[in-house]
Amino acid sequence: MSMRRRTLLKVIVLGDSGVGKTSLMNQYVNNKFSQQYKATIGADFVTKELQIDDRLITLQIWDTAGQERFQSLGVAFYRGADCCVLVYDVNYLKSFDSLDNWHEEFLKQASPRDPKAFPFILLGNKVDIDGGNSRVVSEKKAREWCAQKGNILYFETSAKEDYNVDDSFLCITKLALANEREQDIYFQGIPDAGSEPEQRGGCAC
Ligand code: GDP
Ligand code: MG
Repeated sequence: MSMRRRTLLKVIVLGDSGVGKTSLMNQYVNNKFSQQYKATIGADFVTKELQIDDRLITLQIWDTAGQERFQSLGVAFYRGADCCVLVYDVNYLKSFDSLDNWHEEFLKQASPRDPKAFPFILLGNKVDIDGGNSRVVSEKKAREWCAQKGNILYFETSAKEDYNVDDSFLCITKLALANEREQDIYFQGIPDAGSEPEQRGGCAC
């Protein structure tokens, strides 16, 4: 029997209240969708186990507990993030306009070592609504925003119809993994850098 290491990846999900962050996570982790609006309470994160090639991965997905509306999320929320998922609602312009702020807030709070290389992904959610007739942000506009920020990947999703949810989270996982490998290399390259990479229970750093 061989022992295999499990890699823990921390993913944080950001975006305006009501865009579907909790629903996307719930669809991905539990294969469930609820129409009822419930402010997220309690647990800070949910986990999902998966395997990519030969690696066992625990994805720790951090959700906001409704604080996104009125207060800052605190440093513990951002600490040690391996990937940041930004979400907006394609039917609601204000949620798209907020993306600049969320992106900036992440970079400020998490202060990743190399902001330009840090993996972000953007999800344009609720594409199912009204058969797409009520959407106000085009895919083109969203992709332009991604390109302007530096290579942010983009997916259109529906938590309700389970459209692109698995695919986008798989992509998120791969991006986080790639980022982690780069950090490994970075740390190896600097002898006695003075500080150890943060311990994140079972992480491969
Ligand atoms: P959060 O505040 O960003 O966590 O948003 P929620 O996940 O709580 O979702 C807010 C509301 O939008 C709820 O009523 C959900 O049922 C609904 N919702 C979320 N995702 C979708 C979607 O893809 N399609 C539709 N039609 N409704 C959605
Ligand atoms: Mg929520």
